[in-house]
Amino acid sequence: PKQPYDDANIFAKILRGELPCDKVYEDEVALAFNDIRPQAPVHVLVIPKGAYVSWDDFTAKADDAEIAAFMRAVGNVTRQLELDTPGYRLMVNMGQAGHQEVPHLHVHIFGGRQFFQMIA
Ligand code: 5GP
Repeated sequence: PKQPYDDANIFAKILRGELPCDKVYEDEVALAFNDIRPQAPVHVLVIPKGAYVSWDDFTAKADDAEIAAFMRAVGNVTRQLELDTPGYRLMVNMGQAGHQEVPHLHVHIFGGRQFFQMIA
């Protein structure tokens, strides 16, 4: 069975303004903020404002316009941060085996250093 959306998750609290975040970008559909435990000189999380547990939930339930707008928002963040040259890494952890800790979809943006083939 699919996991129901938990309104008490930490990113839901950030979206409601109940917890602070170090905001990098915001538009109609997305919010981006610095990761609290950065794994790179740039480590930003981009989350949809809608209540989606995961990548799977989002791509199954969101309408095409929302998916497009969210992908555009991720690009807007990397452009705002001028990461295009030399490049950056995007990551989405999905579910237990993917080591997803927070049950609200988030795209990780990593930048500011050289990355290698894979990570553990
Ligand atoms: P996941 O493993 O779910 O893909 O990644 C969750 C990420 O959220 C981790 O990189 C973790 O450091 C970050 N994180 C967890 N709690 C908070 C928080 O309260 N604020 C911020 N800014 N990041 C958080």
